[in-house]
Amino acid sequence: MPPSRFASFAIALPLYRVFEYRIDDSEPVVAGTRYRLPFGQGTRTGVVLGVSDSSDYAAERIKPIETRLDQRPLLGEHILELANWMAEYYLQPLGEVIFQCLPGYLRGARAHQSLRVKRWRLVGSDADAIDRLQRRSPRQFEIGRALLRQPDGMTALQMKQINPNWLAVVRTMEDKQLLRWEWIDAAVSPVIASEMPRLSDEQDAILGEMEPRLQHFAVHLLDGVTGSGKTEIYLRLIQSRLADGLQVIYLVPEIGLTNQLIDRIRQRFGDCFATSHSGLTDYQRYQAWDRFRRGEVSIMLGTRSTLFSQCERLGMIVIDEEHDHSYRQQDGVRYHARDVAIKRAQMLDIPIVLGSATASLESIANCERDTWFRYRIDHRPTRYPPPPIQLIDVRNSRFEFGCAAPTLARIETHLADAGQVLVYLNRRGFAPVVMCHECGWQSQCQNCDARLTLHHSLQTLLCHHCGFSQAIPETCPDCGHDEVKHYGVGTEQLEQGMRSRFPDTPVLRVDRDVISSRDALKARLQQLQGGEPCILIGTQMIAKGHDYPAITLSVVLDADQALFSASYRASESLAQTLFQVCGRSGRGDRAGEAIVQTRFSDHPLMQALLRQDYREIAADLLQERRLLGFPPYARVVIFRADALELKQAMAKLEEIKALLVKARHFERLASIGPIPALMTRRIGRYRAQLCLLSTDFQVLRSVLSQAMPAIQEIASSPRVSWSVDVDAPDL
Ligand SMILES: [Zn+2]
Ligand SMILES: [Zn+2]
Repeated sequence: MPPSRFASFAIALPLYRVFEYRIDDSEPVVAGTRYRLPFGQGTRTGVVLGVSDSSDYAAERIKPIETRLDQRPLLGEHILELANWMAEYYLQPLGEVIFQCLPGYLRGARAHQSLRVKRWRLVGSDADAIDRLQRRSPRQFEIGRALLRQPDGMTALQMKQINPNWLAVVRTMEDKQLLRWEWIDAAVSPVIASEMPRLSDEQDAILGEMEPRLQHFAVHLLDGVTGSGKTEIYLRLIQSRLADGLQVIYLVPEIGLTNQLIDRIRQRFGDCFATSHSGLTDYQRYQAWDRFRRGEVSIMLGTRSTLFSQCERLGMIVIDEEHDHSYRQQDGVRYHARDVAIKRAQMLDIPIVLGSATASLESIANCERDTWFRYRIDHRPTRYPPPPIQLIDVRNSRFEFGCAAPTLARIETHLADAGQVLVYLNRRGFAPVVMCHECGWQSQCQNCDARLTLHHSLQTLLCHHCGFSQAIPETCPDCGHDEVKHYGVGTEQLEQGMRSRFPDTPVLRVDRDVISSRDALKARLQQLQGGEPCILIGTQMIAKGHDYPAITLSVVLDADQALFSASYRASESLAQTLFQVCGRSGRGDRAGEAIVQTRFSDHPLMQALLRQDYREIAADLLQERRLLGFPPYARVVIFRADALELKQAMAKLEEIKALLVKARHFERLASIGPIPALMTRRIGRYRAQLCLLSTDFQVLRSVLSQAMPAIQEIASSPRVSWSVDVDAPDL
């Protein structure tokens, strides 16, 4: 038997191991290449990690590889290295992490066919040689003559117009050495717009400070008030990178990937960019990935997973709205795109630019440690500053569809003044509570620990967690009382109320129930661009990333729920949302106004809002976190389990805890649990968690590295599954 070689493969399975296969032939096997592998009764796709001459197992027991899917490796060394770091840092199975780095389209058995275009030319320009074909090979003659007229060559598409069966003809001509083909170099050169907005003094000064720092790795945080022109700074930085022949990855939160930004990039740089986000098909995202990888385009604009785009000459990463929660992937492979991007920039020794008007406490703390550069922009380039926030105390108010009388009066004034009004209410549906007055019955989801929301348009009660729905009962299901009532207000009811209150004003609602696609969102928001008075109602979808200069009033209804949330991050999120929503107004040539309805105007956070300074609030919150020993001054790792019964989930975590306890220095960590999760039952499964917290990251890592090898052996099955979440966003 000839000497065998072995290759280790990553396979997309939630298992902490790699898989070995035998390679007998002499073909080179290169890391990052995909192969089809026999696996169990069927086959699976695996990515080569490495090759070795020996194995721990007897060679006969190791199965041979089946087929190679890629001619050349799909994943470069750098991405493999990044994946390894992610798997190790986030304690995620390497196979799943590596497949996460591939576009969805290539995670199965599909071959990667480069989307480059071929072009055929004549080898010589001998017209006589072509003429000689006329009698014996008229079809070759036809193509040859067309090519004589096209010295630059013709693509498959052009050939097909001459002869539908062109390929066979062309193959013959290639064999006769009459034709040769080449790739069209389709690189789209940036076309830099000649007209650009004038920079404010602040923008100009910041660019001057940053420019000399762009040659090496550094994290730059653009901390600028809403509407301060951060995007313009990104665009100028991108321009300077492109001028050096480099490529750029530009990440935005899903919600922020607005058509406005795409238009702006196109205006500035032409078509030298590709986009990738969840509104596209797998194939479209794959196309974008391939175009960037080949260097056909210089800018890759997209959401979270766009971070893994590969290219030859990456020169900068930009992350807009860096505080946004959508950068955190909560299921499957758990990671934070911002933090992985920083690691990637560090590995490549390139700059990374983060921006936000409401920076995360993590980032602010990093700047205080002096490891990052922080640039403050305190002014808008337009005439008016961000609007002052006013509180409307609604303790003893009567409400109409969620609005108190003073709120409605302000809306009326702004509309009369030809302004646009934005009303933020982060609750979909008509009413969040449906209950019986007699016995206290409430509509509950049968799969989750959650209430059902009344949706008028659908004529149902709907669970926002699992999608369960049921008819609206006419009588109480428990006591038979002949009336069930609804309480609270969602966007659907608010829209209805606004329409009847302001019948002559267009009311636009933006939430997941009415907006199913980005195009639908675009259509809806286009009306705002006209600048005519209107009322825009919406959830998180409208909170950020939009720039409509005619909005003069921002209204936040019902900000109070977050004040009493169990999450230690609730205050931070609330402050971010309030500043973002309020910052939508007054961005044009008219001053803006922002009002927040609250029953708790004395609450310290509400009082801080009045002082107008997110940075001040952030500093207070950081102080509090430091005292409590919470992130960013501590690290959190959460083990979660879910099962059909609570006791199974708890038992799984007890098993994990028993292994952790054995590790040296475990007693130096704070551990909470296992306990049932806050929302214990969700989509029919019971959930529990075990939380580890420490201000000493070294100790936490050490305990984990001692215990993980054994924990990784613990089975995770659909019946009882477990996962681990490093730097979990909550406790
Ligand atoms: Zn009842
Ligand atoms: Zn449910």
